[in-house]
Amino acid sequence: MVRLVVDLNRCQGYAQCAFLAPDVFAMHGEEGLLYTPEADEAQREKLAQAAAACPVQAILVDAVDPPAEAVSGER
Ligand code: SF4
Repeated sequence: MVRLVVDLNRCQGYAQCAFLAPDVFAMHGEEGLLYTPEADEAQREKLAQAAAACPVQAILVDAVDPPAEAVSGER
């Protein structure tokens, strides 16, 4: 699992991420971004690209790294 955090206060809805990783990010309306906080490992490369492409660096990949077992479960 790749843990993912988007700072929605920073996000300006540029949709670069939704373009690069459409399985994880989706634009909802004008500037609402929806995303999956735990993405599949297979998405890692796309996520890295999306994070790099975000004009405001709002995307943090693996920002928090708690012991996996401690937080696995429902979300
Ligand atoms: S690329 Fe960045 S600013 Fe644009 S929608 Fe995604 S998180 Fe928001």
